[in-house]
Amino acid sequence: FISKHNLKTHTAVTLCTGQMMPMVGLGTWKSAPGQVGLVKQAVLTALNCGYRHIDCAAAYGNEQEVGEALAVWISPGKVRLREEVFVTSKLWNTKHDPEDVEQACRTTLTHLGEEMMPRRADGTICYSDVHYKDTWRAMEALVDQGLVKAIGLSNFNAKQVDDIISVARHKPAVNQVECHPYLSQTDLLQHCRSVVTAYSPLGSRDRPWASPDQPNLLEDPRLEDIAHRYQKTPAQVVLRWHIQRGVVCIPKSVTPSRIQQNLEVLDFCLSPDDMKLMESMNRNERLIKVWRDSNHPYFPFHDPY
Ligand code: NAP
Repeated sequence: FISKHNLKTHTAVTLCTGQMMPMVGLGTWKSAPGQVGLVKQAVLTALNCGYRHIDCAAAYGNEQEVGEALAVWISPGKVRLREEVFVTSKLWNTKHDPEDVEQACRTTLTHLGEEMMPRRADGTICYSDVHYKDTWRAMEALVDQGLVKAIGLSNFNAKQVDDIISVARHKPAVNQVECHPYLSQTDLLQHCRSVVTAYSPLGSRDRPWASPDQPNLLEDPRLEDIAHRYQKTPAQVVLRWHIQRGVVCIPKSVTPSRIQQNLEVLDFCLSPDDMKLMESMNRNERLIKVWRDSNHPYFPFHDPY
């Protein structure tokens, strides 16, 4: 996935499949498609800065633009290889029926747009209620066929992770969950034997339902103080905290200067005291908890972790 040359500038983790996953990737949720190529530009900026990990999902509705950026970046003389870039995508919740899994994967692979939120007459989303163990078997077939190199989980709680491990032929390589200093996920981290990827690693200030009375992680005075001492930005301190905990992170940005600074987190080290201080900021506060979905039989967030 990443060449030896790139390894010098990247901290990476090795997945149970043997592949290397860079510990900082670019998030692409809310990077709206079509806005004069905003996502495409963000991905190109990131690749040119040295990112080699892009986090996508069919549900973000912009995979086609991510694909266009990858094609542009790879094409000149084919000097750069697609294999250098670790790309994550996610099977959406309407596609859990084993019969739908391969087609959904192929759709993502060809970067086609599709309807992500088909609704019933009462407005609820037609999520699949197939058991996730059955979905996993179909995802394992994607590995067998060589369509994907590794498969993982997202938003699985500890019990659900164990359910999968108890049946898996191909173990989950990653569990991607919400994680930041206000939701430090210490229990889940201890429980997961796979790599954990932190989504919303900076506290997702641009989440559509954020309200002004909710605290803004990146403006937390404790964080500003630490950042000042290390001559870094609060965002860089948070990303460094994730890395020192061994957690992969995928900060989203469409701002070139931030895309750049979010990768500049390998040249300093937080002291054990500052790591402890940041752990103490935990509020067990889930920012991305979609109550719309809480009646689903496998809704993961009723358990504490
Ligand atoms: P996030 O990365 O925590 O925060 C994004 C926000 O932070 C944006 O408003 C961005 O602004 C701003 N930002 C980025 N770098 C900054 C910096 N250096 N200084 C100040 N502000 C900065 O939020 P997220 O998008 O929720 O999470 C990241 C990625 O995780 C997503 O994009 C997606 O790929 C993934 N995700 C996965 C799931 C899942 O269920 N698996 C759920 C949520 C998210 P600008 O863009 O304007 O620069």
